[in-house]
Amino acid sequence: MSCDECDARSDATTKCVIKHHPEALMLLLKRFEFDYRCITYVKINCTVDVPCTLQIPDNQPYELYAMVEHSGDLRSGYYSATIRPEDDGRWHSFNDKSVTELHSQPFQSDKVEK
Ligand SMILES: [Zn+2]
Repeated sequence: MSCDECDARSDATTKCVIKHHPEALMLLLKRFEFDYRCITYVKINCTVDVPCTLQIPDNQPYELYAMVEHSGDLRSGYYSATIRPEDDGRWHSFNDKSVTELHSQPFQSDKVEK
């Protein structure tokens, strides 16, 4: 963040509090940042830990049933999805061409997908 008065820059942390818990929670991760060396936005490609369950304060648990991933850079690429339908406990992979059942669980013993 930069100061409005002296223009000094410093790192900052943002915190969000959910006051009303929705039935379905959708989180969009901001996976781009401005690169001052290149004077353009670039995609952030670091690994993200996605928990199988998310416990939000006030006892509102959320169980993951879908992930959408983007492959490529900021201006091109494609999307794929990994979804566990409500009436089917098995995970499926969706892309532009096909739907395939995953024979391994995306969440192993640590209950986290990277
Ligand atoms: Zn200042």
